Amino acid sequence: MSALPPINDAHRRQLGPIATPDRLLLGPGPSNAHPTVLQALARTPIGHLDPLYVELMGEVQELLRYAWQTDNRLTIPMSGTGSAAMEATLANTIEPGDKVLVAVKGYFGLRLADMAGRYRAEVATIERPWGEAFSLEEIEAALAHHRPAILAMVHAETSTGIRQPMEGIGDLCRKYDCLLLLDTVTSLGAVPLYLDAWKVDLAYSCSQKGLSCPPGLGPFTMGPRAEAKLASRSDKVPNWYLDVSLLNQYWGSDRVYHHTAPVNMNFGMREALRLLAEEGLEAVWDRHRQNAERLWRGLESLGLELHAPEHLRLPTLTTVRIPEGVDGKAFTLHLLNKHGIEVGGGLGALAGKVWRIGLMGYNSRAENVDRLLNLFETELPAFRPASQKQPVAAA
Ligand code: PLP
Repeated sequence: MSALPPINDAHRRQLGPIATPDRLLLGPGPSNAHPTVLQALARTPIGHLDPLYVELMGEVQELLRYAWQTDNRLTIPMSGTGSAAMEATLANTIEPGDKVLVAVKGYFGLRLADMAGRYRAEVATIERPWGEAFSLEEIEAALAHHRPAILAMVHAETSTGIRQPMEGIGDLCRKYDCLLLLDTVTSLGAVPLYLDAWKVDLAYSCSQKGLSCPPGLGPFTMGPRAEAKLASRSDKVPNWYLDVSLLNQYWGSDRVYHHTAPVNMNFGMREALRLLAEEGLEAVWDRHRQNAERLWRGLESLGLELHAPEHLRLPTLTTVRIPEGVDGKAFTLHLLNKHGIEVGGGLGALAGKVWRIGLMGYNSRAENVDRLLNLFETELPAFRPASQKQPVAAA
């Protein structure tokens, strides 16, 4: 037997077991996972073709349909984060040269446009400033002008805190014969969503926000019109991992191996969806709304300005304007280091201009709102320029 080469220990580290602190995640996501979701994740894995696991897959699919209010057959959690599910919606439906119209009103609209281009779509965009939503008239004018195969938009824009009103958009997409693709990453399990009533053909989301799971799965759903477009493709879906026709052989009745499913993540997803169904959508949506309103009133009473107009404001994500002269980053670092609370900063056009406060899933609770408001009241004044330090609450 020939001698093995010596082991290179240059990268060998002797580490202690992981010891991360408990943080309260009140930023744009991830949000804290529900304690029973964490317990589900810690269970011993079972095989991804075990009949018990196969049964669990069906339960997850059924509860995702409930969460989204859809009857779509092709409703599955993609192995990957929200961006993987986002990419799946585009990869499966775009054929090279297809026109994709993206309604951009923030950072994630730009990501959709970027991804669509990578699948060789002819991408057109319409834009609104970061803090506004589209009107039906604007959407109709753009559909009539561009005549796209797909209209893609973000329901809950995490970069701005804006909710896109959806009523009527699906009808326009039918009128102009295009698919409607909707990002529901910051709305699923928290903000009213009616995919079938809104005539949405494709949607995706994530596990780490309204669903109170850690990041790792990207719920995906595809309606019959999108399925028909997939079935009529002349070429293969150019992404093997995300090809729904292959994935459906595992998630559908055949149960053919495609990739080794992240079984524990799906244990967590099942528990998260079980909790959602137990509470009920109406109660869940109402809880998010009430806690967000408590936050908004509290911030306003401290003299802080909210970036999004109230009628378009997301209950999951509040954008707060950073007051003149305050170093927003220094304050969020202080919250994190001194109090273990994460609050987000601005992205893209809103970088340095806003804080982003998330109240999603398990974290949408009055005690979290009050704890954060108390810190804004007592500790923000130290970060204001001397000229502004006097009574915050009186502003
Ligand atoms: N879309 C929106 C609106 C998001 O907020 C995010 C992430 O926060 C994504 C897409 C991408 O999801 P992920 O980061 O899970 O890949």
